[in-house]
Amino acid sequence: MPPNRSTLTVHTSLLFDPIQKAFLENVSVEINPQTGAIARLHHRNTPDLPSPLSKRDIDLRGKVVLPGFVDSHTHIFLHSDKERFHSHQMRDESPVERTVRATNHARAALLAGFTTYRDLGTEALGNADASLRDCVNRGLIPGPRMFVATEALASSGGYEIRTENKLARGSVLGLELPRAADIVDGVVGVRQGVRRRVGEGADVIKFYGDYRRRVMRFPPDVQGPGGRLLFPPDRRDRNPAVLLFSQEEMDAIVDEARLADVPVAAHAAETRTALMAARAGVTSVEHVFVDGAGCMGEMMEEMVRRGTIWVPTLSTAEEGFEEEKFERCKAAAKRAFDKGVRLAAGGDTGVFNHGLNSREMEIMMEAGIPVEDVLVAGTYTGWHACGGDASGFRFGWWDKGNRADIVALDADPRKDAKALRKVSFVMKDGRVWKRDGRPVDMIAATQWPEEAEVSDAEEPIARASGLGSNAVPYGGPNPTVLSIRGSRNPTPAASDVGWETDSFDVKLG
Ligand SMILES: [Zn+2]
Repeated sequence: MPPNRSTLTVHTSLLFDPIQKAFLENVSVEINPQTGAIARLHHRNTPDLPSPLSKRDIDLRGKVVLPGFVDSHTHIFLHSDKERFHSHQMRDESPVERTVRATNHARAALLAGFTTYRDLGTEALGNADASLRDCVNRGLIPGPRMFVATEALASSGGYEIRTENKLARGSVLGLELPRAADIVDGVVGVRQGVRRRVGEGADVIKFYGDYRRRVMRFPPDVQGPGGRLLFPPDRRDRNPAVLLFSQEEMDAIVDEARLADVPVAAHAAETRTALMAARAGVTSVEHVFVDGAGCMGEMMEEMVRRGTIWVPTLSTAEEGFEEEKFERCKAAAKRAFDKGVRLAAGGDTGVFNHGLNSREMEIMMEAGIPVEDVLVAGTYTGWHACGGDASGFRFGWWDKGNRADIVALDADPRKDAKALRKVSFVMKDGRVWKRDGRPVDMIAATQWPEEAEVSDAEEPIARASGLGSNAVPYGGPNPTVLSIRGSRNPTPAASDVGWETDSFDVKLG
C-alpha cells in the first residue's frame, strides 16, 4: 500500500452515481496517482472543506461530477464525413496523415470528458488502432483508454471501398485499394478471423451483420453525361442493407470470441440482423435504423432476455438521415429503453468529429430518456460494452480500485440541455488533463539531464503542503466511508450474456 502522501483528494458537492442512478452530495474521492485508481470515497457530512486546502486537494464543489464518459462506438481514424467522405479518407489519405489526425482526435475526446473509447474498426488501416492504443497507454500522447477492434470482420464482397474500375485489378494496370475489413466466410473462416483479430491485439470483435453490399448492382450516380442510371429500381430500395452472415456464422463468431473472453459488437442496420446477432449472444448491437422485416418488438424482447446492449448511434442518424428517419430512430431507442433494453451511448464518432461525442447523450435526452439513465448509458453501460471486468479494468462507476476517471461539468444536465458540453475538469487514471475549462500541459517539455536529477530529488508535494505520510485525508467532522458495491458477480465477461442487471447496491456504513 503506497503511503498517504501520494493521495490526491477530489472534493465534490454533487456527484452522479450510475449504480444508484442518483446525485450524491458532499462526497470526496481519494485517488492514488501512482496506481491511477480510486483509493477511497467518503461522505464529508458537510459541504465545507478545510482551509487552506493543500496542493493535493482539488475542489470541484459547485460543479456536477461524473465518472469519465465512455463512447461505446468510435472510429479514431475517421473525421467528419462532411469534411471528406469516409471511403475517400480510406482511399486517399496517407497512413501518416490519418495517424496524426487520430492523435488530435484522441486529445479532443479526452478534453471533452471521454476517458474511454470503444473503437470499432480502423476503416482500412489494419490494426493501427492497437498501436495507437498502446501509445496512449505508454503515456506518449493524451487520449482516452482505448478498446479496439482492429479490422472489422465482413464476408466476401461485404464491406469494401467500391469502384467500377476493377477490370485491370491484379495486372500491372491494376487498381489496388486498401481493404476495409478482414474477409471471412463460413463457420471455419469466421473462427479464423476472430483468432486473427485476437492475435493482432483486438479488445473487441466487430462484425458487419449486414451492409449495403449490392451497391454495384445499381451503382451510385456520378456527375456528367451518362453518369446517372435512367431507371433505378422502383419496387424496392436502390441499395438496401442485406445480411452478410448466416445465423450459423454469427453463432460461430460469438462462440469463438468467448474462447478468448472478448466482447462482440455487431453492426446491424436492420432489425432482422440485430435479432439474429442477439440470438447469437453478441455483447452489443450497433445502429439498427430500419425495421424492414417488422420484427422490432421481437428484437427488443430478445435483447431484454439476453441482456444485449443496444448502441443506437443516434448522432450518426442525425448527421446522415432526413428528419423523419432520424425521428424514427430516436423513437425506437426510447421504445427500447421503455421495454428495458440496455442502452449504451456511442455516436459512431468519427462520422462526425471527435470532441463532439456528448451529442449522443444529448439526443438520448431529447428522445425522452431520463437524464440519469442517459448518464448511465454514457458511463456504466459503456464499461459493460467494453466487456466489464473482462476488459481488465473497472471504470464508468465509483468504487475503491476503479480507475480514477473524473469529469466535472459547469452546468447541471437536469437543468441545462447543453450541460454535457460544459466540461470544466477531466482526470483520467488519476492524472488531471483539464482544469478550470483549460487543458493542462499535455506533453511534458523535454528536460536537460541535470534538471531531471534536481526534480527527482525534490520533496514530495504532499510533504511540502503539510500532508505527511501519516496524515489522514480530511473527511469533515465525522467522515463516513462510502461503499459503492457493484454486482455480486462482477465479472460480466463477453461470455456472460445473461448477467444480472439489478444486482447492485450501495451502502453507507
Ligand atoms: Zn461505426
